[in-house]
Amino acid sequence: MTAQIIDGKAFAATVREKVAAHVARLKEEHAITPGLAVVLVGEDPASQVYVRSKGKMTVEVGMTSFEHKLPAETSEADLLALIEALNADKSVHGILVQLPLPDHLDEDLVINSIAPEKDVDGFHISNVGLLGTGQKAMVPCTPLGCLMMLRDHHGSVSGLDAVVIGRSNIVGKPMAQLLLGNSCTVTITHSRTKNLADVVKRADIVVAAVGRPEMVPGDWIKPGATVIDVGINRIDAPEKGTKEDGSVKMRLVGDCHFDSCAEVAGAITPVPGGVGPMTIACLLANTVTACCRANGLAEPEGLTA
Ligand code: NDP
Repeated sequence: MTAQIIDGKAFAATVREKVAAHVARLKEEHAITPGLAVVLVGEDPASQVYVRSKGKMTVEVGMTSFEHKLPAETSEADLLALIEALNADKSVHGILVQLPLPDHLDEDLVINSIAPEKDVDGFHISNVGLLGTGQKAMVPCTPLGCLMMLRDHHGSVSGLDAVVIGRSNIVGKPMAQLLLGNSCTVTITHSRTKNLADVVKRADIVVAAVGRPEMVPGDWIKPGATVIDVGINRIDAPEKGTKEDGSVKMRLVGDCHFDSCAEVAGAITPVPGGVGPMTIACLLANTVTACCRANGLAEPEGLTA
């Protein structure tokens, strides 16, 4: 069997189109423009790239982007004061603080100072609790993107056996909650799980969020299963030659060994071009959802958990 490739890039484009259509309606019918504020502390190059592309896509779907770039030595008090101001600002519907923060800043304290209804990353402790108890929450973007792709592929995932590899607060745990909320039978696995191969082999749905290149081989996968590969890992690619500085070029791979898994699975997300593009699309979806909730308006269909 050769798996169907779930094209996250194309799917993310349809999500952004839906967001843009909803934004246009909000402007036309209610004179409201959703706004997303992104706060970046320091000069981490990867974070700068993420923030730039978030800002660009926010504007592309018709929303307002507010970028706050603060120096690395910003004090906690100053950062909290900025968040308080954004919490009170009616033109800001979503607030995202780009992680990781410099070491002298308490990440939990900062994230929990965001108004939960504006917490478009879904990391605030209130949103974690709401999701865990099956209530209306802001849902973390990467797991939300995975769920959207799974629903699109399966229609309903109810009753399916799902195995999540990884138990992080940003991917593994919320992913498991979403699958449980959608009536899957869920197993969460981690670095101490015994007989991981046997556990994964039982799954109709495998979500791998580990951060170990090509860790899951095809012979762990049940024939016909759906494989969602969240991992983003850079590995040496000597076949691509060397860079100007003489170092070996790199390529991106997931946590699953793509070729062998695709031989067995029914469907699989590639890396790159699978889960990655869905994450920013879901950030935009969460912002428009937050804007609708703030204004007591109907939420956009198909963009929430
Ligand atoms: P974390 O490092 O926070 O968590 C990794 C998890 O994997 C941990 O729970 C760990 O277990 C588990 N793990 C480690 N080794 C093994 C093993 N040998 N067997 C089973 N489980 C293992 O990572 P994240 O959740 O933040 O990210 C995971 C991956 O997803 C990374 O590659 C990251 O780059 C990618 N990612 C991609 C995103 C996207 O947009 N596509 C967004 C976010 C992340 P334990 O808890 O026991 O240590």
